[in-house]
Amino acid sequence: MQNNNRTILLNPGPVTLSERVRNSLLRGDWCHREPEFADLTRDINNRLVRVYREMAGKFDAVMLTGSGTSAVEAMIASFAPHTSSTLVVTNGVYGERMVKMLAAYNRPHHVVESPWGEVIDLDQVRNELDMRTDITHVAVVHHETTTGRLNDLSQLSELCGEHGVRLLLDCVSSFGAEAINADELNIAALAATANKCLHGVPGISFVLARKEVWKQELVPAGSVYLDLAAYYQGQHGEGFSPFTQSVQAAFALREALDELEEEGGWEQRRSIYRRRAGYIAVILKGLGLETMLPPQEYSCVLWSWLLPEGTSYSDVHASLKADGFVIYAGQGHFSKNIFRIAHMGDINNDDLGRLKTALQKCFAI
Ligand SMILES: *Cc1c(COP(=O)(O)O)cnc(C)c1O
Repeated sequence: MQNNNRTILLNPGPVTLSERVRNSLLRGDWCHREPEFADLTRDINNRLVRVYREMAGKFDAVMLTGSGTSAVEAMIASFAPHTSSTLVVTNGVYGERMVKMLAAYNRPHHVVESPWGEVIDLDQVRNELDMRTDITHVAVVHHETTTGRLNDLSQLSELCGEHGVRLLLDCVSSFGAEAINADELNIAALAATANKCLHGVPGISFVLARKEVWKQELVPAGSVYLDLAAYYQGQHGEGFSPFTQSVQAAFALREALDELEEEGGWEQRRSIYRRRAGYIAVILKGLGLETMLPPQEYSCVLWSWLLPEGTSYSDVHASLKADGFVIYAGQGHFSKNIFRIAHMGDINNDDLGRLKTALQKCFAI
């Protein structure tokens, strides 16, 4: 594809691939039950726990074939207990999705729900943890992609610590670009995906958990495909997975992890995303648009913007798409009043220059 008229994805995954990652898809035809794929699996799992220094040596990863939701669901199915309760703290679509999973797997659970976009309700969490001694786990989304809000996990994790409760995280849209201090937050397990901040292709997602959590805290999953016990045993035994893996997506993830490391790791990626966010914000604010949340409350990964009065999302989307940029609609009741721009992927200064022109054309009064 020509570099100057390629489509740039500004939706929250999949992302615009680098040439290097795209080319890795052509590495060859491999069988997932041959030793070379077992080596690749081990290599990827080792690299995944090294993305964050604090996790290396303390966490193990398993990868599975499926989108981010499959990893979150596998984590819930395999770690949310049958005989004690999980408290889900929600403020958007993805937190609410974890509630649906707990219900689908018949696991005892409670919910502390905040309206989409608002901060998580820590007072209510404290009340629940004080009151309900059946709660042993808390599940929460790190970056709520519904609005771009980065949930502040430090106080939540303190509450978990005080109550001796395990923390399960959906880090699908933060892993690789936001701080995830596993020790300070005392994370038990987290789920994430190849095709967001890691810049791989869709098809592979993964779960990281503390070594002792893998050894002692797996529960009967009530699922054949999403039973992490089988993946853990296979990938950390002979290196094989229980089911066919997306071999080419694994090539791409391996390459993307290599690229991330060479480019300076998650901290460098965060500063690149922050710079993009700032660049886009200057343009949109100059055109009279406003953010939905106060800017300092957003992740570096995605911001939500209020649609100007009388402007329809579909017109904005169509105008930007015609100029080579794909943005994302709001979900649910936000679909008419916001749009979202993600800052992930292999985007260069030329692309950003063209984006400026496209935004100015789209929102010209
Ligand atoms: C993208 C995302 C998911 C997973 O969505 P898929 O469509 O399955 O990839 C889960 N949680 C969050 C916070 C996300 O942003």
